[in-house]
Amino acid sequence: NEKQADIVIIGAGGAGMTAAVEATQKGATNLIVLEKMPITGGNTVRATGGLNAAETPYQKADGIEDSIELFVEDTMKGGKNLNDPKLVQVMAEQSADAVTWVNEIGGDLSVVGQFGGASVKRIHRPSDTSAVGPMLVNALNAKLKELDVPVFLETEAVHILLNEEGAVTGVQAATKGGEPYTISCKAVILASGGFGANSELVVKYRKDLDGFCTTNHSGATGDGIVMAEELKAGLVDIDQIQTHPTVNPDTTTMYTEGVRGNGAILVNRSGKRFVNELETRDVVSEAILNQEGKTCFMVFDQSVRESLSAIEKYIGQGIITQADTPEELAEAIGVDKDQLKATLEQYANYQTGGKDTEFGRESMEVPLNMPPYYAGLCAPAVHHTMGGVKIDTATQVLKEDGNAIPGLFAAGEVVGGVHGANRLGGNAVTDIVVFGRLAGNAAYDYVMKNG
Ligand code: ADP
Repeated sequence: NEKQADIVIIGAGGAGMTAAVEATQKGATNLIVLEKMPITGGNTVRATGGLNAAETPYQKADGIEDSIELFVEDTMKGGKNLNDPKLVQVMAEQSADAVTWVNEIGGDLSVVGQFGGASVKRIHRPSDTSAVGPMLVNALNAKLKELDVPVFLETEAVHILLNEEGAVTGVQAATKGGEPYTISCKAVILASGGFGANSELVVKYRKDLDGFCTTNHSGATGDGIVMAEELKAGLVDIDQIQTHPTVNPDTTTMYTEGVRGNGAILVNRSGKRFVNELETRDVVSEAILNQEGKTCFMVFDQSVRESLSAIEKYIGQGIITQADTPEELAEAIGVDKDQLKATLEQYANYQTGGKDTEFGRESMEVPLNMPPYYAGLCAPAVHHTMGGVKIDTATQVLKEDGNAIPGLFAAGEVVGGVHGANRLGGNAVTDIVVFGRLAGNAAYDYVMKNG
């Protein structure tokens, strides 16, 4: 079973589908997208934040003063300066175009908001209540259909094939339960996403993350990292893995940071607080792992529920326990009831007095004394793998020795270096669209030149 294409794209998440649309819009005709799962979308469809972009018409219309420089500065600071500054520069420079492009293919990113780590309002979101991930994936699916681009579902790329000169000649693929077959091609775009759902690989690079669950879709297994390593591609920051502290371990639902931001506290099984709930993700994650059961409860009241529509979703999923009094709540979740009552009373005092003398929490929105009371089980989970394959600013995959592998391009979470030690919310979607488009262009140009 043999097939032939000009360009093979591995992975139909945000980066792969963006690359496919862009290459086709440029003129590519013989292109195949391989997706190992039964559906497209990968982790991208789970994105809830938005797309960070600077100097957009939407910012201007709202009177927001932003600049490429400030976007770069915020991203480098967020990434603890481990990021590759050249990649960050490209991402920032092309971010406004990315917004325009998404809107042109039928998406909607027209509302600007504030998000963690950004000095100004920079995150672009849909104008209705839809989340950015499903909006983008729906738009890309529709566009690919319109452009007649073949997407082979349940088809996994297993190896990337090179000739003696080390240039790409094809991809070995396998359908579910089927024999492997070869697609010969001139260029490959690796867009297979991260490895957050591959606990073996996570622990290989980060022993301290043993036992963490994940917010990732089950296809985030790092196949692209393994395939690229076979070709001696360089890896960057591979041990940089972002965890999210408040994930329901049974359903892997991520409780947005907004729940704590709007007032929720965290308590352990003794009913006691144990950390400043608004500390950075890594600090809160570690604190939770030090508690009995390596889990804790996020506790809030009716006023927090009313402040955040996302909470309705969690309640709908049946992962929130509700009770009329703190004692009843404690009983329902198996926590010391006198202690939980005392913890809430003490917290109300801190809130009224404006000072959390125990943990130094600065923002205490509400006194948490409006019934009913709510609790959700939380554990830290692997959220995003910042590290990955080394690329240059034209998305060419580089070997350990710094030379490019001719015909191999990569974009999205499979790539390392864009986010450094910590990814800012809203930068994953920018990454996908900017570098997905660059990869689509670069692969098309490469095929034209070497065809
Ligand atoms: P990104 O944000 O970088 O686009 P996503 O997680 O959204 O990453 O998408 C990556 C996609 O690649 C997922 O849909 C995943 O199932 C797919 N994928 C991962 N490994 C392979 C593979 N070996 N062959 C084909 N598709 C793959």
